[in-house]
Amino acid sequence: MAKYWYKNAIIYSTHIETFMDSNGDGVGDFIGMSRSLDYLAGLGVTCIWLLPFFPSPNRDHGYDIADYLNVDPKFGTLGHFVEFLDAAEDRGLRVIIDLVLNHTSVDHPWFQEARRNKNSKYYNYYIWLDEKPANSHEDVIFGHHQDGNWEYDNEAGQYFYHTFYKHQPDLNITNPDVRQEIQYILHFWLKLGIGGFRMDAVPHMIRNKGNSKFDGDPFEFLRDIRSFVESQRKDAILLAEVDTEPEKYEDFFGKGDQVQMLFNFYLNNHIFLALARKSAEPIERALTKLPQTSLKEQMGTFIRNHDELDLERLTDEERNEVYDAFAPEEDMRIYGRGIRRRLAPMLRNDRHWIELVYSLLFSLPGTPVLRYGDELGMGEDLSLPERNSVRTAMQWSTEKHGGFSAFSESSLPIPTIADGDFGYQKVNVYAQMRNPNSLLNWFERIISARKECMEFGWGNFRIIKTGNASVLAHYSQWKNGCAISVHNFGDTACVVELDLSDDQRQHLIEHFADQQYDAFEPENKRLKLGPYGYRWFRKSSLFL
Ligand code: MG
Repeated sequence: MAKYWYKNAIIYSTHIETFMDSNGDGVGDFIGMSRSLDYLAGLGVTCIWLLPFFPSPNRDHGYDIADYLNVDPKFGTLGHFVEFLDAAEDRGLRVIIDLVLNHTSVDHPWFQEARRNKNSKYYNYYIWLDEKPANSHEDVIFGHHQDGNWEYDNEAGQYFYHTFYKHQPDLNITNPDVRQEIQYILHFWLKLGIGGFRMDAVPHMIRNKGNSKFDGDPFEFLRDIRSFVESQRKDAILLAEVDTEPEKYEDFFGKGDQVQMLFNFYLNNHIFLALARKSAEPIERALTKLPQTSLKEQMGTFIRNHDELDLERLTDEERNEVYDAFAPEEDMRIYGRGIRRRLAPMLRNDRHWIELVYSLLFSLPGTPVLRYGDELGMGEDLSLPERNSVRTAMQWSTEKHGGFSAFSESSLPIPTIADGDFGYQKVNVYAQMRNPNSLLNWFERIISARKECMEFGWGNFRIIKTGNASVLAHYSQWKNGCAISVHNFGDTACVVELDLSDDQRQHLIEHFADQQYDAFEPENKRLKLGPYGYRWFRKSSLFL
């Protein structure tokens, strides 16, 4: 079973830079991260996903890598990294790291050598053209920063291809020498003991670009990576960033021989549409389009991540509904496709509404992926540029800099939120630890409940009819066990009738709920829910 640990994991995403600074230089580091592990173990998460921590000029938050086989000195050393891995393992926590193979930084020595010398083997690590092609606006990700996909390089006297920013030249994945370098990267980190990789920008990697064209099936690339990773560590996973239509998910899973996990962007977008409409219909619609994942596959479900809330899976009209509800001001929106806010402020810091969303996350089919600070209800700082609004320092205490750093200056290099309803004076770990009714303590309880309800992670699901447009109910079955969750998207109380067979209603135990409800009697089909109410049931283990 351990090989499939990711089926019932709780993944916590964080960035070394913004989590905990141990040496008072104002930047988070691995020693600080190691010191925070008891907090994370106490919260109950089982896997930590670290955003890129490699040497980087940091023009794109470390997604512009200048050396794949090292730790950025501002975060510590490889020695600190290994110590952190060991400390995590001691607490039963796995660590997955970001794998950014679509592109490097222009500062990477490969690119520096490539632009200098066309006879160098590194020249073919990248994608070059003498003339910019007529159709050069084919896949622009950051429209306002990018003038197409081809950038002229004075030193090389040629254009190079970039999917993202012009300081991030795409690697020529079709070049066998690049594949060999990728293998060295995988090998190195797996040997140190990581539990897998979060793969960045996967669909972009397997596209033909300029004269870089795949012979045959481009997905062979994913099969090669999977097979190498498994040869080194059988339980290591690949969690892929694939923001595409659900019909294409199977292409990335392959026959159980490509990636094990995909982020569920489609469901994510429809959760926000459901919240905007106070209706369960968008989630029901999304769930019916999703594949029932097989034993080896899993969806990574999430509410917010380190990027904008990208709403590209919605129609223009639907996206506008979400904008109107959660990003009414232009400054809250970004790139013409998303929202640069955290969840708690979007939901006007309404505790019941916030709980509803995370109760949903923890009971939907898939493995929940949290973002640091979600468990506290952290907010955003819209005065910061672009996506920096949601990349502020972790809020530990009411001390200067929120307990994140003992930095002596008055303002940190890493932004913190000091004031207002979401400032560290009001929202921080230690205050919430002391308060049994805090959101943090609620997260601890729901994480524990979710781990017990393994059916949500392992099982096949089906929607249960409720006769109420605001209420989503679903049933997950795994072997003889079943778990049921019911969520009210409306802000008024209601009573619904669950369409369950007599047999399915037997021996259900109320497992988790937003309040103390009257017991659910099997002979009574009717079920009460408060405003934004939620209830989880599970078949008693005595009757499995
Ligand atoms: Mg530091």
